[in-house]
Amino acid sequence: AHEIHLASRPEGWPTEDNFRAEDVDLPELADGQILVRNIVMSVDPYMRGRMNDVKSYVPPFQLDAPLDGGAVGEVVESKADGFAVGDAVVHGKGWRDLAIVPGNGASKVDLSAAKASAYLSALGMTGTTAYAGLTDVASFKEGDVVFVSGAAGAVGSLVGQIAKALGASRVIGSAGSPAKVARLLELGFDAAFDYHDGPVAEQLRKAAPDGIDVYFDNVGGEHLEAAIGSMNKHGRIAMCGAIAQYNSTEPTPAPRNLVLAIGKELTLKGFIVGSYAHLTEEFRAKMTEWLKDGAIEFDETVVDGLDNAPSAFIGLMKGENTGKMVVTI
Ligand code: NDP
Repeated sequence: AHEIHLASRPEGWPTEDNFRAEDVDLPELADGQILVRNIVMSVDPYMRGRMNDVKSYVPPFQLDAPLDGGAVGEVVESKADGFAVGDAVVHGKGWRDLAIVPGNGASKVDLSAAKASAYLSALGMTGTTAYAGLTDVASFKEGDVVFVSGAAGAVGSLVGQIAKALGASRVIGSAGSPAKVARLLELGFDAAFDYHDGPVAEQLRKAAPDGIDVYFDNVGGEHLEAAIGSMNKHGRIAMCGAIAQYNSTEPTPAPRNLVLAIGKELTLKGFIVGSYAHLTEEFRAKMTEWLKDGAIEFDETVVDGLDNAPSAFIGLMKGENTGKMVVTI
């Protein structure tokens, strides 16, 4: 099998040198396992945290071993009940062309209903993150004004569109380029701005003159501080990610205006999508309808070739993607 290994742990920004391609012989399948030929894999911001040797909600990647992460592929050999050769599955052993996967770590998907990459994005973990974070963590309700950062990314673009589909009165997004801002307006966002164009707090106040009720935070830092400043009474913040600080080598300052959370009676709640698996079925049913009737569109940036996975991952951290960044294998 051809695999991408972690050659060294990045300090600050990752570089191509932190990764190495390896060809390895795979052992025979054991009972309960399947062999999967991967079609497409995901690169995700959370993987940056796993490259550090620190305890977190998912264990760190091991040095000189393949990285892993979401992937969709086809079963080419099966010693697990319920899986036959030819089945398409989503599983957690990406970053390699051939993967040995335990049967209980794979779920079947229907490639006639949606393309393989959709199960890594709109119909997969990304979509569940957006839906659970908005509806459950941030207790979204009809009429809310919603602000989402990282809005042209995989999770963010879905958050904004789901909020519109569920009756938000106004949805505002921030993103890192004029092209991304234009795309957000096409997707139905009521307002969008490029966070490079000036202080986020100022741009947000202009885009949301009556304040915001929900902030879906993908970025942290200056964005979180700006959102706290614009929050209405009883506002809710879903703390999903803080990508602005994933490559920092120094502790980053807290929002300097956190004290406002008291008087405004705000809720700030962090979450991990894995804790919201119970919402997956409800979410998939709704998303399937939204995609079918065109209420929600989903962008992808596709990088071709497993050997380009490290550069796709680094590109993701730099904002080279619009929608979900995936790598075809
Ligand atoms: P995205 O598709 O949003 O890709 C990452 C984007 O982050 C880039 O495209 C870039 O867009 C933006 N970005 C990078 N650096 C900065 C910065 N300094 N300031 C502002 N934006 C920046 O990735 P995902 O949709 O997969 O993930 C979005 C967030 O959600 C991440 O923080 C991730 O960790 C988190 N997440 C959390 C989960 C959970 O369970 N809590 C599950 C899944 C994701 P731009 O050009 O706009 O800068």
